[in-house]
Amino acid sequence: MAESTKIEWTDHTFNPWTGCTKVTPGCDHCYAESWAKRSGHVKWGNHDRKRTTVDYWKAPTIWNRNAERFEAVHGRRQRVFCASLADVFDNQAEPQWRIDLFQLIRDTPRLDWLLLTKRPSNIAKMLPADWQDGYPNVWLGTTAEDQSRYDTRWPQLAAVPSVVRFISYEPALGPLSISEHTSAPDWLIIGGESGAGARPMSARWATDAIRECRTLGVAPFFKQWGHYRNNPTAIDRALDDHALRLVDPHGKGGGLVDGELVREFPQPLQRTISRSAA
Ligand code: SF4
Repeated sequence: MAESTKIEWTDHTFNPWTGCTKVTPGCDHCYAESWAKRSGHVKWGNHDRKRTTVDYWKAPTIWNRNAERFEAVHGRRQRVFCASLADVFDNQAEPQWRIDLFQLIRDTPRLDWLLLTKRPSNIAKMLPADWQDGYPNVWLGTTAEDQSRYDTRWPQLAAVPSVVRFISYEPALGPLSISEHTSAPDWLIIGGESGAGARPMSARWATDAIRECRTLGVAPFFKQWGHYRNNPTAIDRALDDHALRLVDPHGKGGGLVDGELVREFPQPLQRTISRSAA
């Protein structure tokens, strides 16, 4: 539930509650489930979700209060990943918790909230009544670990207005082309699976996806290879893990693509706040 995070594309994580049920092959090695088993904090699967504490819920307000200082140092707004140990659009979560979450989001306009879900078919029906064209400080994303999931989930996400719509192609479990649809996301996060039993990622999947992003004007963010055995630098130069870690220390399994970091962010659509109540 840590508030600061090592996830390369965000500054903070926030979990309004914990607990979830696996819904797709990308969930097979869910790190949140491993965390839950280790910590005993919540039972995974079809069990009650557990709301986080009142004190924990105060953290985003503090980040919001510190926004001026953060922006002066970094030259950009803070990003908050919600949620790493749950799914915001989970049918099994208490609806009131989601209502409270959106109130918190409205109360913290200096934060950009990145809501990433594996249940994009639920987004439209679970958004607050004043969503309209999207809150100016909310980016909506869904995971697509392969082509078939992208083909199902991207149209569901694309149907919902948002200042940024993004795809997390992580864990990448198969090739993915985003050019076959009439629209494309604003941002594509790409990453290989890490940890015990991680499934392999082909270097070609990553380079092809980045090339398509360049063609379509999508911001690519290559996070990591997941494991050094996926990393083409290791394969091309016959380096062992230790040597490779010195050459490419980025993310898990390294993060260089053709010798460079590819870590771009989208430009959110500009929206003004014109709402009354949720
Ligand atoms: S949706 Fe996310 S949190 Fe839920 S089981 Fe799948 S990987 Fe884990």
